[in-house]
Amino acid sequence: MNTVWVLGDQLNRHLGALADADPTTDRVLIIESTAKVTSKRWHVQRAHFVIASMRRFADELSAAGFEVDHRRSRSLADGFREHVDEFEPDEVIATEPASWDGLELFRDLGVTTVRSNQFLCHYQDFADWADGRNRLRMEDFYRWQRKRLGYLMDQDGEPVGGRWNFDDENREPPPGDESDPWAAPQTSRLDELDREVLADLDDVAFDNGGELWGTAPDGTWATTRRAALSRLRHFVDEVLPRFGPHEDAMVRRSWHLAHSTLSPYMNIGLLLPGEVCDAVQDAYDDGRVPLNSAEGFIRQVIGWREYVWGVYWLWMPEYRSANVLGADRALPPVFSGAASTEMNCVDHCLSTLHSKAYNHHIQRLMVLGNLAMLHGVDPWAMTTWMWSTFIDGAEWVMLPNVIGMSQWADGGRMATKPYAAGGNYIDTMSDYCGDCRFDRTQRVGDDACPFTTLYWDFLDRHHDRLVSNPRIARQVRAAEQLSDLDAVRSRAAVVRDRLDVGDL
Ligand SMILES: Cc1cc2nc3c(=O)[nH]c(=O)nc-3n(C[C@H](O)[C@H](O)[C@H](O)COP(=O)(O)OP(=O)(O)OC[C@H]3O[C@@H](n4cnc5c(N)ncnc54)[C@H](O)[C@@H]3O)c2cc1C
Repeated sequence: MNTVWVLGDQLNRHLGALADADPTTDRVLIIESTAKVTSKRWHVQRAHFVIASMRRFADELSAAGFEVDHRRSRSLADGFREHVDEFEPDEVIATEPASWDGLELFRDLGVTTVRSNQFLCHYQDFADWADGRNRLRMEDFYRWQRKRLGYLMDQDGEPVGGRWNFDDENREPPPGDESDPWAAPQTSRLDELDREVLADLDDVAFDNGGELWGTAPDGTWATTRRAALSRLRHFVDEVLPRFGPHEDAMVRRSWHLAHSTLSPYMNIGLLLPGEVCDAVQDAYDDGRVPLNSAEGFIRQVIGWREYVWGVYWLWMPEYRSANVLGADRALPPVFSGAASTEMNCVDHCLSTLHSKAYNHHIQRLMVLGNLAMLHGVDPWAMTTWMWSTFIDGAEWVMLPNVIGMSQWADGGRMATKPYAAGGNYIDTMSDYCGDCRFDRTQRVGDDACPFTTLYWDFLDRHHDRLVSNPRIARQVRAAEQLSDLDAVRSRAAVVRDRLDVGDL
């Protein structure tokens, strides 16, 4: 018999090696690795989400007639060797991994890989698309994907509605009133298996010097394909019609707004991106959602998500160590929860992370990522922290988003200019600033908003690198001409010191 080895982010019967597997000729191997559980300070919801999903998937495969060797081992490599010793398979086959470590592991162990269909554009096809282009613009890739895949396209090959992009309708600040028009996410009831997983995680972490943090799971995150499909239907029916206009807004009264919260399921295989986009296309065809919502969402999935996967494979493994701004500070203690903060925006994002292991895109980019970049945090430290903290983390998605987009450590391969912003941006897009102890309009003095101070200081510190960038040169010139630039520099030094000791 052959063995089909399924990794924890490949939990789908229709994926690669498993799609062709047959219970009469193939046995399935699933390994829970202690080394993985203790490799980072995981958010408990993230660790639970992956392990509970793996166990339920193993049960589903058993119910479908497969013999499943679901084992717990010290490491993935150990688990593989133990399996081979015990079962002596003719061949071990796996679906290509989504991230680099998996590729190296499979290579080292001599595992045969089958082309991955976990994304709509395989990274080799992305590399062909990228070949010979000076700039890898996401917008160009997205249009190529739209044409190739046929989403929201007319019969004559033009985009439905005559436009490729409704972004300008999707940048609205939060609604001014206190209403909460966003449907609550579905939840699932925790069961005995969930409790077992949590107890096992505690034991593994305790016995091996690991640590978990965050609020225990509350049923927000589904751990079966069936429940994930139900989340998808709920999103399309109840949430998608509002997706778009307030995509970039941040409000304290809702942790999710009209975001789909579907990324974790796509990232571990419980949902496939094609079926997600098909459901959105169907809803548009039936007149159930407006075009700006359907387009805005499909752009995120066939555009951004696939683009990120493509550039990750194109630029690895060197990409891991990119750090053009020479940022080398440690992550401030407020990120790990070792200190509290009076910055309303940071406090809100971190407390949501604590309770849900989730922040939406703008909170990741313009609050937490922005603060780390302005402060000068080592990009790899930031990557590792986000990876271990978010429910949907994985190396392939973290690196371009953190190293490239949020920390600008790649010098502009992902983003043409750093996503740096002071308190004014946060105030426009959120309800955080009104009653904040800091004043977003001040850049010096005890009450100055740390974002505003660090923003001007960032432009000053990186003057020589950024002044020739037409997309940010105007702001760099403005910083150069500040009458109180020396005071900004002094205040920034104080802010950084206080961030380092968790006193801000
Ligand atoms: C600093 C930073 C870190 C991030 N870390 C992750 C991560 O660990 N895992 C992750 O899946 N996404 C990550 N993202 C991208 C994006 O923020 C999340 O995909 C999104 O917030 C997930 O929530 P959602 O499903 O509600 O998204 P929605 O707003 O509903 O968007 C729909 C879908 O589009 C996809 N998508 C949109 N933008 C991106 C993107 N830039 N990269 C990849 N997919 C995208 C996701 O699959 C998402 O589910 C990160 C972005 C930044 C700036």
